[in-house]
Amino acid sequence: MTDTRNALRRSAPQLADYDAVLFDLDGVLTPTAETHMLAWQTMFEELFEAWSIAPAYTQQDYFDHLDGKKRYDGVASLLRSRDVEVPWGTPSDDPSADTVCGIGNRKNGVFLRVLGGQGIAPYPGSLALVRLLMSCGVPVSVVSSSKNARPVLAAAGIEDLFPVIVDGVVAEERHLPSKPAPDVFLVAAKEMGVEPARSVVVEDATSGVASGAAGGFGLVIGVDRGAGSSALRDAGAHLVVKDLADLMEDDR
Ligand SMILES: [Mg+2]
Repeated sequence: MTDTRNALRRSAPQLADYDAVLFDLDGVLTPTAETHMLAWQTMFEELFEAWSIAPAYTQQDYFDHLDGKKRYDGVASLLRSRDVEVPWGTPSDDPSADTVCGIGNRKNGVFLRVLGGQGIAPYPGSLALVRLLMSCGVPVSVVSSSKNARPVLAAAGIEDLFPVIVDGVVAEERHLPSKPAPDVFLVAAKEMGVEPARSVVVEDATSGVASGAAGGFGLVIGVDRGAGSSALRDAGAHLVVKDLADLMEDDR
């Protein structure tokens, strides 16, 4: 066993028998949901002001109308709560179109603007684990369904840490089915030159955990950012942690 492997056995013993670690992005490496919330808020504040809509957008609107809903359904629900009706439009509507779909599409541009303006800080425990793995010579990658993965990684200042990134753009180009299908993780493992059975998947969503389990990955770690430990285990997680720092020994 190499010295670096010994170092990993001391610092993160549960990972020491594996050859690579594949990380989901949103909710695992970065608290992206907060940026999405702020993007919705910014977009609706601008819209409400332009259209003189009252009462003003509040945080509660996010939970009542947007959280967990499909993007367009959320837009329609929120506008309806203010007695505003616009045509539904189609998903290909330009972001400037005053339709439900156009307003929904506008949100992604606002997300990128908010991201560029305020940046995003990676979870400290996640960043510490990535750096530990790198120092021990364990290959790492990012596997995300998001088409915004690269801008998020860049805003977090961690894009250069990951030689392999399989994101929503790659998945669309290669016609890969999304999580919970295992394809995106299997493609990343192949690009890294590692065996799934000898590799670790880290996910915060039940669909992502199920994707890692379906791919036959040797260790699937659920990070419980709200999905719940039992739901993550039911989806196929072998191990659930609250924070990735929990995988590291304190006396690093
Ligand atoms: Mg996630």
